[in-house]
Amino acid sequence: MSLTYQVGRKGKKHLIFEGYEYQNAVQKENKVYFRCVESRNSNKCQGKVHVQDRQVVFNNNFHNHTPNIARILAKRTMRILKAKRNKSLKLPLKLLQQLT
Ligand SMILES: [Zn+2]
Repeated sequence: MSLTYQVGRKGKKHLIFEGYEYQNAVQKENKVYFRCVESRNSNKCQGKVHVQDRQVVFNNNFHNHTPNIARILAKRTMRILKAKRNKSLKLPLKLLQQLT
């Protein structure tokens, strides 16, 4: 199964997996450690995913909230619209093609 990524706030790469959105926390060698985006707000979610060789090799699924793919897609759409509207925001063309 291929993994889905999207550009989060500040241009960082976010992973979308099983309806949850993760942000890139740490990369060590060829392994990337993602934390749930809800881990930084008041939710303090403990959801984590580790990705190695483009595959999820660890998924603790300790989320304290429900998955919300609709919200993720809505956020994604808003970012694309903003990027199109604001020409000074220079998203690489390749990235935009992935998102649209
Ligand atoms: Zn979570």
